[in-house]
Amino acid sequence: MESVRFNFPAPQIDESVDELRKEVRAFLEEEVRGGGFTPVTDCWCAGIDPEFSRKLGEKGWIGVTWPRQYGGRELSALHRYVITEEMLVAGAPVHAHWIADRQSGPLILATGTEDMKQKILPQIAAGKCFVALGLSEPESGSDLASVRTRAIRVEGGWEVTGTKLWSSGAQQCQYMTVLARTGERNPEKRHDGLTQFFIPLDSPGVTVRGIRDMSGVEHFNESHFEKVFVPDDAVLGAVGEGWKQITNELALERSGPERFLSTFVALEKALQQGASNMTGHQAAVVGSIVARIRGLRAMSLGVAALLGQGRSPEVEAALVKDLGTRFEQDIIERLREFWPVRMKQGYGDELQNLMADSLLRSPSFTLRGGTNEILKGIIARGMGLR
Ligand SMILES: Cc1cc2nc3c(=O)[nH]c(=O)nc-3n(C[C@H](O)[C@H](O)[C@H](O)COP(=O)(O)OP(=O)(O)OC[C@H]3O[C@@H](n4cnc5c(N)ncnc54)[C@H](O)[C@@H]3O)c2cc1C
Repeated sequence: MESVRFNFPAPQIDESVDELRKEVRAFLEEEVRGGGFTPVTDCWCAGIDPEFSRKLGEKGWIGVTWPRQYGGRELSALHRYVITEEMLVAGAPVHAHWIADRQSGPLILATGTEDMKQKILPQIAAGKCFVALGLSEPESGSDLASVRTRAIRVEGGWEVTGTKLWSSGAQQCQYMTVLARTGERNPEKRHDGLTQFFIPLDSPGVTVRGIRDMSGVEHFNESHFEKVFVPDDAVLGAVGEGWKQITNELALERSGPERFLSTFVALEKALQQGASNMTGHQAAVVGSIVARIRGLRAMSLGVAALLGQGRSPEVEAALVKDLGTRFEQDIIERLREFWPVRMKQGYGDELQNLMADSLLRSPSFTLRGGTNEILKGIIARGMGLR
């Protein structure tokens, strides 16, 4: 077997990155003090507050890497990294704009029409336009190439029919990026004939229905498209190139600090409450958690550096997500040894509630964005093992 090399370069962190971190941190502390938000666990999925997203837009903290002409600030991937990291650590309600900032904006930048870039990107950067991901379907999740949503050519555009499932935040989004089959299915080339569309969710024929998860949050949705007309310029990139585009998008989706910091607020609260009287065993457990955070963070920063160089590190991103999501689940399991969770949400103190919410939300960590079994397959392929 050839030797396997993963590439996690150490990023160059300059002063401006540290300055930005301080600014973001001070803003978040002020928001918490002033009652602007209450920290929540898994805030990038469960913390829905469009008004808070608008505040971040006003600060200029969404779409920071994009060109100025489209509402961005032309900052580096590391600047974006510290903003997202601080939001997660604070448990801030960032879900509304998260997907648009992380991947839909960059997708539009890479594949959208000029008109779309001018119209949509500044709105996303302002925290006023939110985008949902329309990939999974009732019969199609891990095996995404089997999607049944179909787009057929009609005069002046396309007619889209099908059902998308589990789309996070769609109920508050104005748009969805929809993966649809536009070419005939070819068992030999299963990834061919797929196309991405950018569809306004208020189009005639679209219905969006919320689904409540077991933690009580209605954050994902089932969306049905019944002969929805979209013009030609709603196609993202080239017709039939959807699979390649999605592969690039997934590197953005899988590598960020949200893949290991979803339960960090519970850890921090536990340490605030228990740090002064920890046993040696507890200290060792906490020490090993912190060491794992350092390692994951170095890997995730490495992927951010590669993304900043315009690369698409699919395998490294899969590694971050596989290790990171199991870690963020593990944090809660380890903490439960010392701080048992009362399962009734809303009845304990702040730590109890963060722990209960984390526990109920954590099964989803290793599913969303591609399951860990699928990620291991990608990693194995990257290592030349399959
Ligand atoms: C909180 C949350 C948010 C989500 N948000 C979105 C969203 O915004 N947009 C969107 O499109 N989707 C979203 N999803 C859907 C998510 O991407 C899918 O749940 C995921 O890809 C798995 O698909 P599935 O649920 O159909 O499970 P399946 O694909 O049916 O998998 C079931 C089980 O079989 C295993 N399995 C399947 N195939 C293989 C294989 N080849 N080898 C080994 N094991 C295999 C899987 O690992 C899994 O354990 C979200 C899911 C969750 C939980």
